[in-house]
Amino acid sequence: TKATAAEESSRTRVIETKKPLSTYATFEDLGLADPLIKTCRELGFRKPTPVQRVVIPFLLQQRHSHLMALASTGSGKTAAFCLPILQHLSEDPYGIYAVVLTPTRELAKQIHQQVVALGSSYRVQSALVVGGLDSVRQSCELDQRPHFCVATPGRLATLLRGPQPPKLGQVQYLVLDEADRLLTPHSGFERDVAELLLHCTSNKPRRMPCQTLLFSATMTKSLESLEDIAGSGLGRLPLEKFMI
Ligand code: ADP
Ligand code: MG
Repeated sequence: TKATAAEESSRTRVIETKKPLSTYATFEDLGLADPLIKTCRELGFRKPTPVQRVVIPFLLQQRHSHLMALASTGSGKTAAFCLPILQHLSEDPYGIYAVVLTPTRELAKQIHQQVVALGSSYRVQSALVVGGLDSVRQSCELDQRPHFCVATPGRLATLLRGPQPPKLGQVQYLVLDEADRLLTPHSGFERDVAELLLHCTSNKPRRMPCQTLLFSATMTKSLESLEDIAGSGLGRLPLEKFMI
């Protein structure tokens, strides 16, 4: 894929990873903490997938950058973002720490289950916030400040506009899973995603800026125009892109 002029701007660096970094052959090599390595083993993950070899060490080290990673379906993108977030979470526990947005209820449910499984050694709390389930209960669950909120954009944005908006002021990671679908113009997600992005990444006093992590199987125009759609929501952090 040729980098566009916009991608070559100073804010955005494109890193094309054609093959896995051989230095990251095992979960130990990635720099993961022992409890997480043990959980991976228990889940039957024998070695990290290519996207995990690239994304996990990057997120463990880089706290001041947004990330976009393109890797095929079934390549293990969920664990690629969950594991480093869980590791940081175990060190800085406060508030709702990560919000994961995904286009469908079914995907949200699957991600929520993976978060709970991968975070079992840290007793991670995750709230599933999707349409079709009781929104009052979801609101109460978010009041308990779970570590993760895995949501479809419509339901979370609706709660945010409601009488008792969830407190997202400490969110450290905003993950857009299937980001191409979430950012497609006229998809119905656009407005809610932009609002959530702005809400999580804007201004309030915080120890560290919120990092936005975009995962997708395909590069589309909507991903290329991310910065237009997001407006000022990405703040001043650079966006690193990995094509695996
Ligand atoms: P993607 O989001 O890239 O489409 P998923 O994150 O849903 O893929 O992962 C697909 C499947 O692969 C899941 O069942 C997950 O548990 C499994 N998986 C993830 N990482 C590994 C690994 N390192 N080794 C073996 N299986 C894995
Ligand atoms: Mg996925």
